[in-house]
Amino acid sequence: LSEKLQNALSKLKGKGKLNEKDVDLAMREVKLALLEADVNFKVVKNFINDVKKRAVGSEVMNSLTPGQQVVKIVNDELTKLMGERESKINFSSSPPTIILMCGLQGAGKTTTAAKLSMSFKKQNRRPLLVACDIYRPAAIKQLEVVGEKAQVPVFSMGDKINPVDIAKAALEHGKKNGNDVIIIDTAGRLHIDEDLMAELENIKNVLNPEEVLLVVDSMTGQDAVNVAETFDEKLGITGVILTKLDGDARGGAALSIRAVTNKPIKFVAMGEKLEDLEPFHPDRMASRILGMGDVLTLIEKAQSAIDAQKAMELEEKLRTQQFTLDDFLDQLDQMKNLGPLDQIVGMIPGLNSKALKNVDVNEKELVKIKAIIQSMTKKERQDPSIIDSGRKKRISVGSGTNIQEVNKLLKQFKETKKMMKRFTDMGKMFKKGGGMK
Ligand code: GDP
Ligand code: MG
Repeated sequence: LSEKLQNALSKLKGKGKLNEKDVDLAMREVKLALLEADVNFKVVKNFINDVKKRAVGSEVMNSLTPGQQVVKIVNDELTKLMGERESKINFSSSPPTIILMCGLQGAGKTTTAAKLSMSFKKQNRRPLLVACDIYRPAAIKQLEVVGEKAQVPVFSMGDKINPVDIAKAALEHGKKNGNDVIIIDTAGRLHIDEDLMAELENIKNVLNPEEVLLVVDSMTGQDAVNVAETFDEKLGITGVILTKLDGDARGGAALSIRAVTNKPIKFVAMGEKLEDLEPFHPDRMASRILGMGDVLTLIEKAQSAIDAQKAMELEEKLRTQQFTLDDFLDQLDQMKNLGPLDQIVGMIPGLNSKALKNVDVNEKELVKIKAIIQSMTKKERQDPSIIDSGRKKRISVGSGTNIQEVNKLLKQFKETKKMMKRFTDMGKMFKKGGGMK
């Protein structure tokens, strides 16, 4: 899905001005990409309409970077589709908090129950796992094994007792032992059937859980969405956990579930190990699908902080390698508007903050830097390579600094020049529509 969407959108990125036809064409491709990724048909239709409505406005069309604006709109709408914000576990104000896990066989309930319990333990809670799957051979043993790995106690009563009674006994046990989160692992079936639903409903009625979390296998795509719809209708769920995202190349389930059921995806599992569980962040998932890391945030920041005209001039200078110390001074002032430098650098894919260790931007430094640059001749500012030790001495005396500080500035200038080259290379990639990793 990522690749297809990127392709569809990259055509827009390169264009200076867009008309309605450009957007229409790109949206047709986006639509196909989403359908191929097994996103629910109705969801796709609404999504495309929403994007179009926003993209065809004059504000976007007349902006400096209409292509990028449309990409941003697609990104926003994808985020919205998946629920906008992270949805956290609802903890009861009078513990224990009860979490009922449900889902089809093999979806990952037992594994995910253990993963969840481990994450609660890390938050200094005292979870208890409860074995209510009495049907699948060795299901109890499986929970005991993963429970041990997670170092979380497991409550079980064998497979001769009714799951509803096990659940009741587990609640008593948990209260007595000071467990503040009780996670009930239940049985699944190959398909949804009435018996299973009735049993889950009984457990739910008896325990009155804070959370009924449906575990679905993201690799099953549209089936996962249908399962979610049915479970929600029959049982009522409070959230979804998407498993096996590590094997899901299409992303259709992640994109449709929220829109179809109106229930949030709370976690995603991306591997078999106990650590492989993450809270679900719709915005991160959206940019992952669009394949561009936090570049969008960076574009947003840059657009608001950097004067577009100046940025264009700068780009021209960088391209022709005419970036001078005067520009450097200008640039340092602009960078200040962007926010903490290390934060900015963290958003540039492939560039780590180590590269900028020597670039320190604070007020005092700026005053000094200004003084040093102002003590240079015009020629020196154009071509710092001519600054030998004699010139350095003169500059340091003239600016009331010392040789080390002059050296430091020259080094910073070099680093910045390198970094600015990174920025422009990135810009070029955008124009060509190249993929970002
Ligand atoms: P249950 O029947 O719903 O309890 O499912 P299980 O917890 O027994 O999981 C079924 C299989 O899926 C097991 O082999 C798990 O190791 C595997 N599994 C669960 N979650 C994930 C995941 O996020 N990624 C991968 N690759 N495998 C998973
Ligand atoms: Mg199981």
